[in-house]
Amino acid sequence: MISLRNLFLQHVAQTSETPIGLEVERAEGIYIFDHSGRGYLDLISGVSVSSIGHCNPMVVDAVRSQAEKYMHLMVYGEYIQAPQVEYAKELTNLLPSSLSQVYFVNSGSEANEGALKLAKRFTGRTELVGFVNAYHGSTHGALSMMGDEGFKNAFRPLLPDTRHLPFNDIESLNQITSRTAAVLVEPIQGEAGAIVPTHKFLVALRNKCTETGALLIFDEVQTGFGRTGSLFAFQKLGVVPDIFTIAKGMGGGMPIGAFVSSKEIMECLKSNPILGHITTFGGHPVSCAAALATLRVLVENSYIEEVDSKEILFREQLIHPLIKEIRGIGLLLAVELGDAAMVQKVIRACFDRGIILDWFLFCDTAFRIAPPLIITKEQIASVCKTILEALDEVNGQL
Ligand code: PMP
Repeated sequence: MISLRNLFLQHVAQTSETPIGLEVERAEGIYIFDHSGRGYLDLISGVSVSSIGHCNPMVVDAVRSQAEKYMHLMVYGEYIQAPQVEYAKELTNLLPSSLSQVYFVNSGSEANEGALKLAKRFTGRTELVGFVNAYHGSTHGALSMMGDEGFKNAFRPLLPDTRHLPFNDIESLNQITSRTAAVLVEPIQGEAGAIVPTHKFLVALRNKCTETGALLIFDEVQTGFGRTGSLFAFQKLGVVPDIFTIAKGMGGGMPIGAFVSSKEIMECLKSNPILGHITTFGGHPVSCAAALATLRVLVENSYIEEVDSKEILFREQLIHPLIKEIRGIGLLLAVELGDAAMVQKVIRACFDRGIILDWFLFCDTAFRIAPPLIITKEQIASVCKTILEALDEVNGQL
């Protein structure tokens, strides 16, 4: 019989040359289980998706009961669907009053596409500004805003009238002008390797956007839903965007994304010509029901409040001669080793010990620590011990 692994390699197209290849049977909490019943601790939450852990029972129930009522009905926005309405209400209740409307889509890339189009439409301008080493998704618009020239070269020509500024550099903000429709920025750069900007930079960016009339869009796809110790990073960092985008952790494992803004800005999606952004499956009721359950789990438990103390535990316990630096905020951390080959070896050594780690798209010299927020202090202690053992093993091989 042909193994599942061989069938996977034969028929399922991949972008990874060396897929992890874990044969998944099921997942629960912070663990993913293979067919033999072995549990792997998911220290990257499927890259920030399973903030409240895999298969949270509240989310599973919400999915089941919504699927039994109705699934897809019509292109988004035509019918009144309780899961969408309740989610938009409960989410915006947790936000500053200017961020009062939610446009549902399917993914982080699509949320950024929608937000960029919204900003162009609202301002009537064309220029879009992003940052070096930014990651915003894989569709053409999102790719145009990516701040890594190497990754983009194969896909040119991309969107015209885009420019990329160095991240965290106040002086270059003068390139944002009255021609700029929007500035798209990750409040903490994820794929660049958890790069945290200064508060001064974010305030200067906010002020520059206000002064020039450019809309400030925060991409919270990776930082959202508690990862930095507040529901969204902008709340922790104290700078309010005009639009922000969400996905990943939003659906507790189900595919969903959104862009959030004011009623005034969102209004222009309807104005002439209509159809500001169309999506067939955006705001899928089953995904919205999952998102609502996820939000309630986050709000009703103390996971977000515990993030800061869990960050400290990782920082205190991950001390090793190979570790040069730990960057990031909350449970969005990059452990810098300064050597890509070494990172690969550590990831492999951890995998062999039942821990899933990975590196960053634009920073292969560091590995990621972004566990489900539900990870316990005991689990952190045990995981840190294992990582230190893996580092010792790799150090011995040098
Ligand atoms: N923005 C950021 C900051 C991301 O990290 C990602 C995904 N890694 C995206 C956008 C794209 O999200 P998706 O893969 O859901 O399209």
